[in-house]
Amino acid sequence: MFFKKKSPIDKKIHFRSDFLKNSLHEWVLQDECINNSIDIFFNAFGVELFDFFNQGKKLLMIPARGQWACAIPHSDRYHLILIYPDLINILKSKNCKPGLAILAHEIGHLFLKHSDRKIDTTDAQYEADYFSYLLGFGPELIAFLKERPECQDRLKRIIQVTTKEGPH
Ligand SMILES: [Zn+2]
Repeated sequence: MFFKKKSPIDKKIHFRSDFLKNSLHEWVLQDECINNSIDIFFNAFGVELFDFFNQGKKLLMIPARGQWACAIPHSDRYHLILIYPDLINILKSKNCKPGLAILAHEIGHLFLKHSDRKIDTTDAQYEADYFSYLLGFGPELIAFLKERPECQDRLKRIIQVTTKEGPH
């Protein structure tokens, strides 16, 4: 379904500097912890993901008001992810990985083209969770879902598909 290729380091460096050149990403540069978190995040990207955001619309992540995060595909020239204050606080903290798990989930919605496919909303959530797991944020995602009663179906599903108990 997805990929597992390591990306060449120059691809990541190029992507990162291009991303940070955009003045809309100044909020990342302004905080050392956030900068570091985003660096860790891009380290998890595979080559397909860099290519996805290089060939088509670029990735734009901007702070907004709301809860956690939200992916908005095809907004003008960008694939846009809105990052809300709760998530920014996690990215600022030493333990940023739960935040990166959420970000990876949102990236999954974009990469898997959920807005272009006829996919059930629940299935889209499951796929995006699995995507986050494949990027290496499984434990943090599971911890995040565990704390939220409204996410128990997603929790059950991700445990099922990523452990021996599951169908895979
Ligand atoms: Zn989602």
